[in-house]
Amino acid sequence: MTTTHQDPAKQHNWAGNIAFHATRLHYPETVEQLQEIVSRSHKLKVIGARHCFNEIADTTEDHVSLEKFDQPLVLDRARRTVTINAGMTYGQLGLQLHQEGFAIHNMASLPHVSVVGACATATHGSGDNNGNLATAVAALEMVIANGDVVTLSREQHPDQFPGAVVGLGAVGVITKMTLDIVPLFMMQQEVYENLPVAQLEEHFEAVLSSAYSVSLFTDWQQGRVNQIWLKRRLPSEVGLALAPSFFEATLAPVPRHPLTRLSADPCTVQMGIPGPWHERLPHFRVDHTPASGDELQTEYFVPRQHAVAAMRAVASVQAQLEPSLLISEVRTIAADTLWMSPSYQQAAVGLHFSWKKDWPAVQKLLPLLEEQLAPFDARPHWGKLFTMAPARVQALYQKLPDFQNLAHAYDPQGKFRNAFLDAYIFGAG
Ligand SMILES: Cc1cc2nc3c(=O)[nH]c(=O)nc-3n(C[C@H](O)[C@H](O)[C@H](O)COP(=O)(O)OP(=O)(O)OC[C@H]3O[C@@H](n4cnc5c(N)ncnc54)[C@H](O)[C@@H]3O)c2cc1C
Repeated sequence: MTTTHQDPAKQHNWAGNIAFHATRLHYPETVEQLQEIVSRSHKLKVIGARHCFNEIADTTEDHVSLEKFDQPLVLDRARRTVTINAGMTYGQLGLQLHQEGFAIHNMASLPHVSVVGACATATHGSGDNNGNLATAVAALEMVIANGDVVTLSREQHPDQFPGAVVGLGAVGVITKMTLDIVPLFMMQQEVYENLPVAQLEEHFEAVLSSAYSVSLFTDWQQGRVNQIWLKRRLPSEVGLALAPSFFEATLAPVPRHPLTRLSADPCTVQMGIPGPWHERLPHFRVDHTPASGDELQTEYFVPRQHAVAAMRAVASVQAQLEPSLLISEVRTIAADTLWMSPSYQQAAVGLHFSWKKDWPAVQKLLPLLEEQLAPFDARPHWGKLFTMAPARVQALYQKLPDFQNLAHAYDPQGKFRNAFLDAYIFGAG
């Protein structure tokens, strides 16, 4: 096991907008080593791939990286599950699972995030019938605040498990996760450009349900959606024909980056060329770094039935957003039963904003955006930037009291709490 006081790369998040306050960084290699660290610590958080944009992963004392937890994945072919160690990223999982003939139901735009860190914040991809990534979790093992190891499963602990999965790092240090898997499948991806907003509004349901996963990229300008990414699931290895147009949008003649002016080299294969699920579901390739972290991100989730109205509300402040906005993405997420998921018991639409890296400017804009989306009870992404008042965020989660009780049961002294969790989950603390 290694313990360091300094690892410059790990003293801040991926985007570099959050400096961490941990005084120690531990790299345990076994659960026993982790148990010892957790038992001794007063304040502790895990860092995954550090891709959150806010302070959710920060702590004042002990940071733990589980990247040396590198035990191989364990497949249960009969139950259709895979158990992974907490050091694994989606990119690593995708490759290994595919070689074994299996897949997971969905992936986020970037495969570089850790499975556990992504599930902890309800990270999602797109698709009307696809729940967020945490909905695939069937069981988890964690080290709780007193150092004990606890296992919770969907089947055996229905009173706690739905709270622990999107656990925001507040319940315990997750060491293993068991995920539902499906037989591997092939996909193709194509991009259409310049969808008139009028077409989208008239055919919203048809557009968003037209493929296994659909993403809309827009700068909210000129009455059009800049790009539509369709990820289609294929019955075989043979690709489907590409229509030259899609609801008055036209097929992109060359591969596209969501920001059209940038090279599409970091992006997953487009142009309808068939390929494995894990090389089409993310927008970005596992062997490329899509950007240097030179951006900030925000996302709000609104109930699906309000999608068109919410998009109109955002478009109405487009002029104010324009100087700071790189691009927005709109995706759909199926309803789930995970207490702290923004799509708890409601199908949702995620309205995402990639911003230029200028927090003072973005910080001024967010209240405006949040005011526009307040009538739709918009919930912020747990891993991205927002300025909503803690009381407002808390009011949006009906299962919050149960979640507080669950966290308290496993962490009575608040070892896993930090300023972010104290504010948004536990009130004034
Ligand atoms: C370029 C980019 C693209 C993105 N695309 C998407 C997207 O498509 N969809 C989407 O929804 N989000 C997206 N995100 C947000 C991202 O998926 C989330 O922020 C996610 O939580 C990051 O995972 P991570 O491994 O970096 O976790 P971290 O940021 O390292 O940690 C997240 C939280 O999980 C906790 N945690 C991590 N590991 C453990 C553990 N073992 N036990 C207990 N707690 C743990 C941490 O303490 C922290 O509270 C994107 C972010 C970036 C930077």
